[in-house]
Amino acid sequence: MSGAMPPDMAKGLEATKLSVMLGGHQVLDIPSFDVRPGEVLVIIGPNGSGKTTLLLSLASLLKPTTGTVLYQGIPYREGLSALQLRRKFAVVFQEPLLLNTTVWDNVALGLRLRRIGHHETNERVKKWLARFGMAPLARRQARSLSGGEAKRVSLARAFALQPEVLFLDEPFTALDSPTRQALIEDFESVLRETKVTTVMVTHERNEALVLADRVAVLMNGRMRQIGTPEEVFSRPADEETASFVEAGNILHGVIGSQNNELVTLDTNGQEIQAISALDLTVGTEVIAYLHYEDVTISLPSPQAMSSSARNQPRGRIVKTSPVAGSQVKVTLDCGFPLAAVITKRSWQELGLELGQVVAASFKASSVHLIPIPGKPSGLSPGVSEPAS
Ligand code: ADP
Repeated sequence: MSGAMPPDMAKGLEATKLSVMLGGHQVLDIPSFDVRPGEVLVIIGPNGSGKTTLLLSLASLLKPTTGTVLYQGIPYREGLSALQLRRKFAVVFQEPLLLNTTVWDNVALGLRLRRIGHHETNERVKKWLARFGMAPLARRQARSLSGGEAKRVSLARAFALQPEVLFLDEPFTALDSPTRQALIEDFESVLRETKVTTVMVTHERNEALVLADRVAVLMNGRMRQIGTPEEVFSRPADEETASFVEAGNILHGVIGSQNNELVTLDTNGQEIQAISALDLTVGTEVIAYLHYEDVTISLPSPQAMSSSARNQPRGRIVKTSPVAGSQVKVTLDCGFPLAAVITKRSWQELGLELGQVVAASFKASSVHLIPIPGKPSGLSPGVSEPAS
């Protein structure tokens, strides 16, 4: 702890004017960013977007080219030495990096280095190995473990340190799906229980949906959006974010009319109705974002037409692809491409097949309009309306 500056416990991690140059390129440019105490913040973004660089900068393992990082209001290096920070933080990398010794010793070693007493070390190792289901393997050589077991040990090792902040870089990749799922569930329950401030990097949006209090979207070294998973996945701030989170249809359209809040847009010659409180001029180009889950599919019949949804285009099934769980993504050609995610059971019950014409249906209030930056829209770029 710095003698000069008392820590401000109401603050977590803060970065200001952060920039990192690597190999002559600017890989990170973040004017300001914070991680609140006790929250789980998940950084998502495509490969090469700078996620690891940001994580390492926050964990004090990489010195930014310019800018300041602070923990509890105290700047790194000036106020807090690398050693002081290392004692408060724990980092879990994609590779478990286990030492060639027993599982028990792998978890105990960090505690011994921190001069934690023998009794407490034993208690903590026992507790965390058990918490991650590794107690029966305590005497095993770490290098004989499966990939999933090794990751469990590396998580136990991190939690045993009782860090103030936990950093994780893609901790669940390279695992088969059931192993990964079980581990994420255990990890999630530990996070809720310990309430440790957590920063995690992943390119898997599902992990962010399950674990995050807030999601930060990083693209090309810039922070594109920070918000609750709900906000980011249902109301992505821009087209690139929308296409990365891949949770919905992205349709390009031109505003045809606006009557109070009911907006009509023309997409590829077809009309779509949306609800928007924005003042949109006729002719404005927008992106309409529509969750796959908000599109329903039924057999074309007069009954389907009586649904209250304002949008009921017909379309031919042009593609199907499996989705996690027992769901299937069905892509229709309605004059514009439109995809829905339905259960395999519905697919079977409706007797659907490729090439068939079906009735799609979605509410005007499910259509989220995103202005195209640089196009006249009456909006500032990146500002998006709340879903109605
Ligand atoms: P992510 O974690 O999102 O995949 P990284 O933070 O690992 O992204 O990398 C961001 C960018 O920085 C990438 O374009 C990567 O190629 C580049 N980069 C990373 N490390 C180095 C390095 N040591 N030298 C030069 N460029 C690097």
